[in-house]
Formats: sequence, C-alpha cells, structure tokens
Amino acid sequence: MADLLPCPFCGDDGEKGIQAVTMMNAERTQFNRVTCRCCGAMCPEMNWNRRASSSLQPLTDQQIEGLAAEVWAIAQGKYGSISAAVDRIADSIRAAHGIVKQADTGSQT
Ligand SMILES: [Zn+2]
Repeated sequence: MADLLPCPFCGDDGEKGIQAVTMMNAERTQFNRVTCRCCGAMCPEMNWNRRASSSLQPLTDQQIEGLAAEVWAIAQGKYGSISAAVDRIADSIRAAHGIVKQADTGSQT
C-alpha cells in the first residue's frame, strides 16, 4: 500500500489508524479501514488516497460563473446528448482545478 495522503477532510498529515474490518455479508468481505486520528474520518484503505487532495483551492467567482454558463447551455440542449454534456462539464471542473484527466480504462471505478 502506498503512503497515505493527508486526511482529505482536515488535512492532518499524522499517523492514521488502521483497523481490519470483516463485513457481515455472505462473502465475509475483509478490508483495512483507515481512520484519521485528528477528525475521525474513515474509509476503506484502498479508497483513502483517491479522495480529492486537500491542496485543491476553492473555485474563483469567475470559474463558478463559467460553470453556471455551461450548466445553462446543457439545460438548453446545446451539447446534443446528456453524455456529451456530462463530459463537457467534467472537463470544465477538471480545468478549473488544474486536474489532468486520467486515461479512460473503460471501467467504472
Ligand atoms: Zn482528518
């Protein structure tokens, strides 16, 4: 397991708690759960580093206005299909945060 990133909720970079969890389902699924010792946030270890980085900056008012304009264009059907509209708005949010789109692996993760 890669090093755990700071807590996505409080930004604490200290040691995290790791607990072995067994779900009470038919498969008795087991996983490790990470707990932030500062704020108590917890999630499965495999998901911890997938949370948005705490280094993300809030959008500027100009960026929010741009996204609002795109949502309005989507509502007016200017992008042809819902799928194209969703892709467009996702690209705009990524651009506003400076996030590089990851290669499409063809699976929902
Ligand atoms: Zn925390």
